[in-house]
Amino acid sequence: MFNSIIPLLGLVTLVALVGLVIVRPVRRAIITRPIFSTYRKVLPQMSDTERDALEAGTVWWEGELFRGKPDWQKLHAYPQPKLTPAEQSFLDNECEEACRLVDDWKVTHELYDLPNEAWRYIKDKGFLGMIIPKKYGGLEFSAYAHSQVVTKLSTRSSALSVSVMVPNSLGPAELLLHYGTDAQKNHYLPRLAKGIEVPAFALTSPWAGSDAASIPDAGVVCKGMYQGKEVLGMRVSWDKRYITLAPVCTVFGLAFHLYDPDGLLGDKKHIGITCALVPYDHPGVDTGRRHFPLNAMFMNGPTRGKDVFMPLDFIIGGPEKAGHGWRMLMECLAAGRSISLPSSNTGMAQMTARAVGGYARVRSQFKMAVGKFEGVEEALTRIGAYTYMMDAVRKMTAGAVDLGEKPSVVSAIAKYHVTERARQVVNDGMDVIGGKGICLGPSNFMGRAYQQVPIGITVEGANILTRSLIIFGQGAIRCHPYLLPEMQAAQNPDQKRGLVDFDKALFGHIGFTIKNGLRALWLGMTGSHFASVNVDAAPEMRRYYQQLTRFSAAFAFMSDISLLVLGGSVKRREKLSARLGDILAQMYLISCTLKRYEEEGRKKEDAALAHWAIWDAMYKAQEAFDGVIANFPIRFIAAFLHRSIFPWGHPYVVPSDDVGHQVAKLLISPSASRDRLTAECFLPLVETEPVGAIELALKATLLAEPIEAKIRAAEKEGRFDNNPLANVRDIAIVAFEAGVISAADYEIMKQRNHLRDIVVHVDDFPFDYGVATANKPAESRMAA
Ligand SMILES: Cc1cc2nc3c(=O)[nH]c(=O)nc-3n(C[C@H](O)[C@H](O)[C@H](O)COP(=O)(O)OP(=O)(O)OC[C@H]3O[C@@H](n4cnc5c(N)ncnc54)[C@H](O)[C@@H]3O)c2cc1C
Repeated sequence: MFNSIIPLLGLVTLVALVGLVIVRPVRRAIITRPIFSTYRKVLPQMSDTERDALEAGTVWWEGELFRGKPDWQKLHAYPQPKLTPAEQSFLDNECEEACRLVDDWKVTHELYDLPNEAWRYIKDKGFLGMIIPKKYGGLEFSAYAHSQVVTKLSTRSSALSVSVMVPNSLGPAELLLHYGTDAQKNHYLPRLAKGIEVPAFALTSPWAGSDAASIPDAGVVCKGMYQGKEVLGMRVSWDKRYITLAPVCTVFGLAFHLYDPDGLLGDKKHIGITCALVPYDHPGVDTGRRHFPLNAMFMNGPTRGKDVFMPLDFIIGGPEKAGHGWRMLMECLAAGRSISLPSSNTGMAQMTARAVGGYARVRSQFKMAVGKFEGVEEALTRIGAYTYMMDAVRKMTAGAVDLGEKPSVVSAIAKYHVTERARQVVNDGMDVIGGKGICLGPSNFMGRAYQQVPIGITVEGANILTRSLIIFGQGAIRCHPYLLPEMQAAQNPDQKRGLVDFDKALFGHIGFTIKNGLRALWLGMTGSHFASVNVDAAPEMRRYYQQLTRFSAAFAFMSDISLLVLGGSVKRREKLSARLGDILAQMYLISCTLKRYEEEGRKKEDAALAHWAIWDAMYKAQEAFDGVIANFPIRFIAAFLHRSIFPWGHPYVVPSDDVGHQVAKLLISPSASRDRLTAECFLPLVETEPVGAIELALKATLLAEPIEAKIRAAEKEGRFDNNPLANVRDIAIVAFEAGVISAADYEIMKQRNHLRDIVVHVDDFPFDYGVATANKPAESRMAA
């Protein structure tokens, strides 16, 4: 009797619970209402600037990864970015010429600026107006073309690429295009397109860098005199620093808080952050001094002004856009950030891969090319595989902008991970070339990149902040299908409506979490072997799609559990938030790499690059999962997460040394793969150019290697014993004289030695580095 009552009671309870959940009015009253009230109380109040930042931009492929079930068809269906014939011609001609006009050593050591002819050229040819539509005289390039140009220029000189990149990213042109009045567009855009105006954008202040919304710079609405007439305007004071192009700009965007204490514009006393366009020669404007950012000679400096009166027409978009500045900046940030640093830092990596790879074959120690030592191979492998992945990320992200996306989360991922990988690539490059990288001078092709790599880390959202606060923080709210609706419902002033919306979102959320948890467990138990890949993917890459599906489900589950347990405090627990962001980011990087491999026609010769980069990113994602689990504040939940996500342990170990060996080999020999990997490099093939000399020396080295083998064999036989000329530098002479190599062979060896000596040469200077001579007036130098 008792035995049959228990199952019956259980059944009744189950039916009652299911009924409770299914019958919405009952569910709302009994379950949702108390949760709704508590949620409303604990939900931190969001400032307008925080809301603008969170809501800015669009959700793209990262949304699929966030939700636990990526639709691979969608990934493959995004069109491959392509250049128009005009864009291709610009890259092949104008960009080549701009690079030719710039000698980076002269720029960074002698001129402290781009040469005049380079400035003239980039202005005349429209480099500063690539994003401006043709109807205003601009080039109207796609985001992808813009990215290609910046990548290429970066392989030559940071001063060149930054001077081009800044006017085309977040700055007056972008803001005017989106928000400018017709009068402002008609006046400024044609002038910006032709370089008649040089723009800058001034947001950062000494007291507000990362927390830019807190700028103390302020304007007060008042009447004043402008061009001989009394007009309504603003009296603005500002003190800005780090402003790129400010020392040479002719007009700059200025961000400040606008106040209207006398109610001249309306009821609002604090109107909010406002962006104005200010000519550099407007009375009271102070620009022209320079900062000195790590020997990078792009123009950068402060701008200041005290009680400067300017008419309301200076506001971008006119008076009705007063107070909309922060939203404007947040909305435009995603596009610029998707292109500028991912492109410039990929350029740096391409140049490193090309030049360091070549150098590692030309330079030999212990009678072997240094690039063939396993230790050096490790560094070369990272250089090659990261460059492949960075380029994939750059292209796919620029492609998103061309599809009309303003991908705020993806742009943060691309910015952070491309610049961090560039730092690794450049550091590795420096290690491989040893002392050659340390001593600055015209023949050092890495030193400036090494000095300047922290700049990319710092600007457009400093990296620590981007990783700790933005990628997961913004990603969770923007990509999660239920989180934002829940927050919006809780903040709805109409509480009745809010409760209905909240109930819908809450139960959707619960179902979503359970589904992802079960999928994560199933995919973990089965090693994701049965995960469907709903697209025609290269068979050698298919497993990565399956594993990514598994990681995506596990990530979605882990995110929800973290949000549930930690709530709003996730924002303060930056280490956990950063690791969750790392998982999302690695999945994005892998997606880009898989797409690149497909788009380039599944090139078997490049497969090692893709395999190593993907494997490494999978391993890093796995480490980030571990980091979250190991530090999860509630231990039994940590154990539960561990069992659900890795039921049989970890699927990934470090990438294979064999694959790494294949990658390193690609870097030290000429091949179509090496050319594809470094396709945007500017390569002047002359001995007087350090990177060009390496290219020539690499070819000569390959030609000489079989001859060297003959010489080494003779040396082993003892044929040159006790001959002082039988040394690492001169042995070819001895071999020729001893009849070991022919006259033709000797010519090849001589040419190789000639180029090798240019490549390994390091510059030296007078005792005072030539300062005394450099400081002599021109006349006395001529007389001397
Ligand atoms: C060469 C150069 C060019 C620039 N160009 C321009 C320009 O054209 N226009 C313009 O307006 N600005 C420009 N900037 C400013 C740039 O955007 C800022 O430097 C950047 O926003 C960081 O501010 P900060 O340097 O004051 O660092 P801080 O804000 O002082 O940050 C210091 C450190 O703390 C970290 N941090 C801060 N808050 C958090 C947080 N909540 N969580 C975790 N970490 C945090 C940061 O990541 C950083 O590592 C430029 C800067 C440089 C160096």
